[in-house]
Amino acid sequence: MPEPVPSPPTSLVRRARKIDRVLAETYPDARCELDFRTPFELLVVTVLSAQTTDRRVNAISPELFAAYPDAVAMAGAPREDVERIIQPTGFFRAKTDSVLKLSAALVERYDGEVPGRLEDLVTLPGVGRKTANVVLGNAFGVPGITVDTHFGRLVRRFGWTEETDPVKVEHAVGALFPTRDWTMLSHHLIWHGRRMCHARNPACGACPVARWCPAFGEGPTDPAKAAKLVKTEGRA
Ligand code: SF4
Repeated sequence: MPEPVPSPPTSLVRRARKIDRVLAETYPDARCELDFRTPFELLVVTVLSAQTTDRRVNAISPELFAAYPDAVAMAGAPREDVERIIQPTGFFRAKTDSVLKLSAALVERYDGEVPGRLEDLVTLPGVGRKTANVVLGNAFGVPGITVDTHFGRLVRRFGWTEETDPVKVEHAVGALFPTRDWTMLSHHLIWHGRRMCHARNPACGACPVARWCPAFGEGPTDPAKAAKLVKTEGRA
C-alpha cells in the first residue's frame, strides 16, 4: 500500500488546476499519440515506444497487427518475423522478447485478453506501472497518471512535488486533482513537455502557463527567442 499523502495546501491545488485548465485550452487535441484499436494493440505499442518516437512505432504497427492481431496470434509468431517488423523501433531483440513473453502470459493467464486492473497488468512481463497506467487510462477509461520523463520534469518545475520516485510523484500529483482528470492531465503535461517545456531550453517566453510557473526563466524569456524553441509537433 502506498504511504498516505498529506493533504496539499489549497493554494497549491488552485494553482495546479489553473495550469491544467490553461494547458487543456492550449492543447485541445491532447491524446495518446500512439495509434491503437484494442487494449492489446495499445499494450504492445506502449512497450515498443520505449527509447523511440511514437511516429516510428505508428509506422510499423499496421504491418505488425495485420500479421498478429491478438495475443494468441502474437504468442505463436515466428521470432524472426516480429524482429524484422519492429526493427525500426530500436532494441528490437529485447522488444521482441517482451512482446512474445507478454502475449504468451496473456494467453496462459488471461485467456488472451488484456486485464483491466493495474495489479494484474504489472505482473505481465515487461509491463511497468507507467505502461499499465497508459493502457488503463486510454483503452479502459480507468483514470491513471502516467509519470514519464516529461511528466516528472514538469511537475517538479511547477513545484507540485519534489519527489523523483515515479510512484511517489503519482500519489503526490494525484492528490492535487480529482481522479477523473488524471488521464487528461497526463496528456496535457506530456504534450507541453514535448512541445514547449523541453528538458533543455524550455520555451518560457512563449509559455501559456509562465505566470504560474516557479521555474519561469529556466529557458529564454524573450518571446522571439522562445518562439523558435516551440515544436509544433510532439514526439509523433
Ligand atoms: S515557464 Fe518555462 S519552465 Fe515553466 S512551464 Fe513554461 S516553459 Fe516550462
